[in-house]
Amino acid sequence: MSDQCVFCGIVAGNVPNAKVAEDDTTYAFMDINPGSDGHILVVPKMHSKDLFDIADNDLTDVTLTARRIAKAAVVEFGADGVNLLNCCGTNAWQTVFHFHLHVIPRYIDKSRDRLVLPWQPGTTGDKEIIDALGSQLSATFDRRYPTSDD
Ligand code: 5GP
Ligand code: ZN
Repeated sequence: MSDQCVFCGIVAGNVPNAKVAEDDTTYAFMDINPGSDGHILVVPKMHSKDLFDIADNDLTDVTLTARRIAKAAVVEFGADGVNLLNCCGTNAWQTVFHFHLHVIPRYIDKSRDRLVLPWQPGTTGDKEIIDALGSQLSATFDRRYPTSDD
């Protein structure tokens, strides 16, 4: 737990929040600034700052909780779909540095849903760049980025 971290404060019960669920390792609560009605955050109870910092077991647990929450949100809120989102790093929109997955229910009814796709759908990319970047990673991926078990 980090003294400076607002999500650690929420998990500890020191910061007011609208709790949705918790288990031994994860905690889910309503986002204070929702992108759509029912926007929920799922966090590990153990502090980790981002996707690269979180332990494998916490990442697994948070992902599984997020899937359960997503299912519940779709059924209980009558959502038409759901997005899971993680922002890793300031330049990727991360503002709170305690790992979290956003569970964002989506609605055909736009009065309940303020999200817009941040890239242009249906725009074909530059094939040379796509292929070059794919080859660059595939050439060394398994050797340089092994799983934690390796
Ligand atoms: P990020 O930008 O890091 O991906 O997401 C951080 C999220 O945390 C934002 O959606 C923001 O609204 C939410 N948030 C920040 N501070 C608080 C808080 O004190 N309480 C709650 N419930 N949500 C918060
Ligand atoms: Zn924290």
